Order: sequence, then structure tokens, then C-alpha cells
Amino acid sequence: MPEASNKDNYVVGVDLGGTKILAGVFDASLECVGSAKLSTTAQRGLESVLERIERAVRDTVDEADLGIKQVSAVGIGAPGAVDFDNGTVIFAPNLEGWKDVALKKELEKHLGIPVFVENDGNIAMLGVHVAELKAKPRHAVGIFVGTGIGGGLILNGELHRGFNHTAGEIGHMVIDVNGPKCGCGNRGCFEALASRTAIFQRIKAGIKEGEKTTLTETLGDNLEDLRSGDLRKAIRRGDKFVVKVIEQAAEYIGIGVANLVNIFGPEVVVLGGGVMEALADEMTAVIVKTAKEHAMPGTMKNVEIVASKLGDNAGITGAAVLARRGTK
Ligand SMILES: [Zn+2]
Repeated sequence: MPEASNKDNYVVGVDLGGTKILAGVFDASLECVGSAKLSTTAQRGLESVLERIERAVRDTVDEADLGIKQVSAVGIGAPGAVDFDNGTVIFAPNLEGWKDVALKKELEKHLGIPVFVENDGNIAMLGVHVAELKAKPRHAVGIFVGTGIGGGLILNGELHRGFNHTAGEIGHMVIDVNGPKCGCGNRGCFEALASRTAIFQRIKAGIKEGEKTTLTETLGDNLEDLRSGDLRKAIRRGDKFVVKVIEQAAEYIGIGVANLVNIFGPEVVVLGGGVMEALADEMTAVIVKTAKEHAMPGTMKNVEIVASKLGDNAGITGAAVLARRGTK
């Protein structure tokens, strides 16, 4: 039973992704007391996604044996450019047809409680900063490696949104001008080189060129069900090709870290997201070594580079922090 002081003081955090919607209900001490997961089914259109976000909120509240009236606010992390002040998703490259979507207004209409919307990378960083780093570092940078690469900046103790509310899009800093094409239309972006999508593409291309890997023995030639965890298993089996691909991705992430440390001078760089969750042990040493090689002398002194332990829950945790702040 939750303590009496926690009654009616719950918030819901939602992580809206291109493929799945995660929701969690959090009590006053930021403890997750129930969660729900739904597929986004973005191809069915905007109305369908809005309906599924609402359902994810109601499911998670039900899961925690609560009623929606006991929830004081909902926070949502959305993929893309978000206008935090009016809760509009300006543009979301991974959600078809999402342009100037009044997400806050629409959901408040359906749920009858306040809703707050923020960019997903920003929100994951907020979750890590508050729940994992205990809000201690004044300056911190988060890199979230998954389908794409998201990021978030804490500067002077606050989430940094920037002039057009789009700051922290570190996945699209250009690392190789002649590199592979990115989903944003540019070339050689950080996420076109080091995201899970980029890693998987490199592995599939290598197999076509005749590289030998244990992955085809366990998953078949098409690697349809390939996941980050399979890469970890392959590395532990001594798969030289997978080791090479993962080291290369880790080097790119290290270069990303060096650039960010040069520009922002953070105390802590947090590495998170599904790829880091699966491969932190395999990648962290190479990331740190490469970052030290590429950063300006002196900039890396006493800077911590750490893997987040929140994993996939960083988004819903940060969204809960946002909701909690909004109601204060
Ligand atoms: Zn890009």
C-alpha cells in the first residue's frame, strides 16, 4: 500500500517513440509504481497515435491500481522539435504526418489533467540528472544511443532548450561531411555513423561483402531479428567482425564526446539508450580513450564519462520530473 502522504500525488511519465510508447506512474518519491508499453503504430496516422498515448496513460494508472483523478499531471517526451511553452510538436521525422501537433491541448482535452511536452533527448537527460546524478552536476551532457542518437544538455543546473527550443540535437552534429546519408537529409551526422541503425547497416553490408560472423549462424543470413543484445553475445563468443564494427561505433561516439566536452565543458558525460544499455562494457573504454585523444588538452581533466543505469526508463522518469515540476 502506498503511504497516505503519497495519495493523490502521482504523476505519469510518457516516452513517445517512433516504434513504442512507454508510460510509467510515479509516486511522490519518484518511484515507478506501474508501467505500460504499447506500439506506436505511427503509420496509422496522427489520431491513432494520440489515442494510443491516452490509452498508455490510462493503462499504466490502472496497472498501479489507481484512478486518473489521483494523477496530478502527465509529462511526455516526444521525438523531434518541441515548443515546450505551448506543448506543440513542431516536427517529428520518425512520426509520419507530425507537423505542428498541439499535443498538450489534445491530451488535456481527453484526460482532463495538465500535460507537459518536451523533446525526448532533453527529457531523458532530465531523468538521468535528477534520478541518477541527484541533480548534483551543474553542467552535464547526455548522449542516448538507440535507433537514432538523442541528446540533452544541463547547463548551469538547468535543462538548456536554446533559442528555437531545439538545442541538444547532438545526433545531427556532422562528424564526417562525406559520410553516409542521415534521416534529416544531411550527410555524416553523428547518428548516421554510430546509432543502432548505422551499426546494423554496417553489419549487413559487411556480410554482403563476404565478412564472416557468428550472427548469421544464430540468426540466419538476413538478420531480421537482430538486436543490440545479439552483438554483445557475438563479441563474447570472440566474433572479430562484430568487435571491429562496435569499436568503430565507439570511436565515433568518443569523437562526439570530445566535441561536446570542448564546447560545453561538462563535469559529467552520461551515455545512455538501448545500445549503451546492451554494450556499455564493450564500448566504454574505447569511447573514453578516443574522447581523450580528440578533446583539446586540459578540457577532459576530471570529466567523468559514465554509462546510465536507467536504460529505457530514463525517458519516463524525466517525463515524470517534468510533470511534477509543472504542477508546482
Ligand atoms: Zn542528421
